[in-house]
Amino acid sequence: MEHIEHVLPWGCPGTQRHLSVFRFGSGPRKAYIQAALHADELPGMRVAVELKRCLLELQAQGRLTGVIELVPVANPIGLAQMLQSAPQGRFDFASGENFNRHFAQLGPELLARLAGRLGDDAQANISLIRRTMHELINAWPAPASELEGLRRLLLQHACDADVVLDLHCDFESVLLLYALPQHWQRLQPLAARLHASAVLLAEESGGQAFDESCAAPWLQLANALPQANIPLACLASTIELRGMADTEGEPALASAQAILAFLADLGFIDGEWPPVPATCCAATPFAGAQYAYAPHAGVVSYLRPLGALVEVGEPLFEVHEPLTDRHSIVCATTRGVLYARERLRFARPGLWLAKVAGSTPIRQGRLLSD
Ligand SMILES: [Zn+2]
Repeated sequence: MEHIEHVLPWGCPGTQRHLSVFRFGSGPRKAYIQAALHADELPGMRVAVELKRCLLELQAQGRLTGVIELVPVANPIGLAQMLQSAPQGRFDFASGENFNRHFAQLGPELLARLAGRLGDDAQANISLIRRTMHELINAWPAPASELEGLRRLLLQHACDADVVLDLHCDFESVLLLYALPQHWQRLQPLAARLHASAVLLAEESGGQAFDESCAAPWLQLANALPQANIPLACLASTIELRGMADTEGEPALASAQAILAFLADLGFIDGEWPPVPATCCAATPFAGAQYAYAPHAGVVSYLRPLGALVEVGEPLFEVHEPLTDRHSIVCATTRGVLYARERLRFARPGLWLAKVAGSTPIRQGRLLSD
């Protein structure tokens, strides 16, 4: 195992932050896994603990047949952010930006540089595109902030990987995956191995999240240059490893084993692994997800448990305003799995409280909330 330690720019005098990348195995193919880009989403960090331990063993046994890079703490900036004893790992205090937004979109610049230079040799195209990605990133001006430096380092490590897995969690949630529709078939074994309860597919979720920044350039190049043979060479997914409080060891080990077995399916690891489970949840369009909001402030009581299959019109939660006695019941507007709930129980404007994975598109434009 190689421990690569990057210094983040713009450390305050007297302090300095580092980004640690643990690199296992060798070979031309690379898988990249990071955890806790939203710094206080700790289930991914817990899974990374198990991944690191297992990868050390697998490496000692000589079973790694590709490179696996693991970043267990993808956001040391956010991890240090506390406000009156409460961790604040989602938004950067300095800029207000969501840590998993505004990653660079390499597609347009790649297209400008590579149009006319890509032919029908897929492998040659992949090599040239990856080399050009690094040339582009290396030519950027120096980062203007610590956050910009962090985003650049993460993208630099992930952009040339064959597989990118970004480990997150929701507030209270089932295990689910986000991915491009074009990747679903290849990701289905991972969803099955993780016993995912939902998979949300979108070609563009809006907001320039990390996984899309890795995967989308390939799709953009392939669409713009149909005469060239350009595979979707970076299989990427954001995995929501249940809710913020789901850091128990047993499920973390099971998730780590599922991820490793999937990497073995893809040829990164030798040896015997459990077969892919025969059943898997269906994937639904991210545009089909209902974000349910309260119509007024008040205390929230949920009426359906996480993971429930709800019908249109089925009550999801109720809201009581104790001074005026106003009472509302908010219902599902689509049929599907109730896959996430807010962990706070006080309804406020703009705060989603429940999410349902429906199969019919009901939303347009930017699909990700902040
Ligand atoms: Zn997250």
